[in-house]
Amino acid sequence: MNKSHEKGRTLQRSQPGFDAEILGTSFNAHDPGRRPEWIVQANDVFDVVSAINRARGNNLKVGICSGGHSWAQNHIRDHSLLIDMSRLNAIEVDAPNLTAIIGPGCQAGDLNRQLAAQDLFFPVAHAYSVGMGGFLLQGGFGWNSRRFGLGYENVTGLDIVLANGQLVHANEKENADLFWAARGSGPGFFGVVVRFHLKLHKRPKFIGLKLQVFRIRHLEEVLAWADKTGPSVTSNVEFQIVFNRKAFGIMSHGLEVLAPVMADSYADAKKDVAFITSSPVRKLASLTLPLVPMSMNMMMNTGEKTLFLPNTEWFADNMWIDGPVDPIMPRLRMIADSQPPAPSHALWLNWNAPQTRTDMAFSVESRTYLALYGGLRNKADTAAHRNWATDHMRALEPHSHGIQLADENTGRRPARFVTAENLARLDQIRAVRDPDGLFNAWMGRPDRAV
Ligand SMILES: Cc1cc2nc3c(=O)[nH]c(=O)nc-3n(C[C@H](O)[C@H](O)[C@H](O)COP(=O)(O)OP(=O)(O)OC[C@H]3O[C@@H](n4cnc5c(N)ncnc54)[C@H](O)[C@@H]3O)c2cc1C
Repeated sequence: MNKSHEKGRTLQRSQPGFDAEILGTSFNAHDPGRRPEWIVQANDVFDVVSAINRARGNNLKVGICSGGHSWAQNHIRDHSLLIDMSRLNAIEVDAPNLTAIIGPGCQAGDLNRQLAAQDLFFPVAHAYSVGMGGFLLQGGFGWNSRRFGLGYENVTGLDIVLANGQLVHANEKENADLFWAARGSGPGFFGVVVRFHLKLHKRPKFIGLKLQVFRIRHLEEVLAWADKTGPSVTSNVEFQIVFNRKAFGIMSHGLEVLAPVMADSYADAKKDVAFITSSPVRKLASLTLPLVPMSMNMMMNTGEKTLFLPNTEWFADNMWIDGPVDPIMPRLRMIADSQPPAPSHALWLNWNAPQTRTDMAFSVESRTYLALYGGLRNKADTAAHRNWATDHMRALEPHSHGIQLADENTGRRPARFVTAENLARLDQIRAVRDPDGLFNAWMGRPDRAV
């Protein structure tokens, strides 16, 4: 995956090794069957500009990848030229000014480690190897983003190569249309981002984790409690529940109540997670760990070794849910009962979005986030379970408020990911900035599959 130490090459579809290079860009080990005509492994901005010209000259569309973590493998498209940005992964931190400039190929974990060493913080993605490029463009649900904002809310500017090959800077004042569009258009953005300018935070003094585990038979009681208590949980805590067939400690089907917490002191953090220690369902728990200090680096690496395994075919889907959990409880039980083997898992996340955010393309979020990640490691499981996530999400559509582009599955199940007003505005900006439709758009959108 991370090949940034090797000099990037340009390969055509007919050349030996082409398929391996294409599939090697993707975290998801599934082969989507689609193939671009060229891959350009960019070493610098000049390679990006010449790739754009090559695509134009060959009448091809442009696909882009940075970390290759799109579950849907959005970047692997037919009739296109793929620009692989993983080698543009520089990280420059300006600690006194609390700013950084990063390449889109930089990994969440690498950025976090550099910042931790200087007592600084950015709400990076939860797994180490996620590319910051795709993560930031779709919004960026980072560590404790309820407190620090979405990843993209901490971006102050971007350097972008446009469809005409021009390199421009975009921020709130300069090329403001591009800045607005980049904040949430995700896999439908119409330009190649070559650098992000970030605003950093002081690192919270305490970072830790509270964990409680229940057997799956308690699903209804635990989710009813979580749903009720969620709105009052402080934004210091990222309150979530994972359905796991190999739940921590019990190594069987269970619910992991996970509460990463960031606070000014251990005492404050303990108060923040007291809702778990004193909950009405606590006596049903098979296991409750005390609040333990834990580095983000450790949590990110643990996630990749337990839930987010590589060399796995992934089929993910997701939705925002606005109402209370009761009407969907029978379906949640069906999701658990039909859950494929680990590392497949379901995530229930307490979000309770803020009332207002700055004006940007990102515009759909809600009370609760539900995502299903079918992670299949042998052919029989793939045949049996590849539709697990999509089918359950389809059945829940009447309760849904839309989706996150982070875990999008729009090629198989088109769904609302921005408001209709913002979709229209994105289309208008695209028509001006990419009049010939050089860049691939989303694989599916609410008004039609593309
Ligand atoms: C294990 C794992 C953990 C994850 N954890 C989180 C999480 O905690 N929070 C969260 O919000 N999301 C998370 N995601 C989802 C992830 O953020 C998105 O899939 C994101 O798109 C990944 O970025 P990437 O650069 O690695 O992916 P890529 O597949 O490289 O990019 C996705 C799409 O973004 C566009 N893009 C990428 N780079 C550029 C660029 N330089 N210029 C223009 N367009 C570009 C392209 O359209 C591309 O197809 C996770 C995904 C995985 C697989």
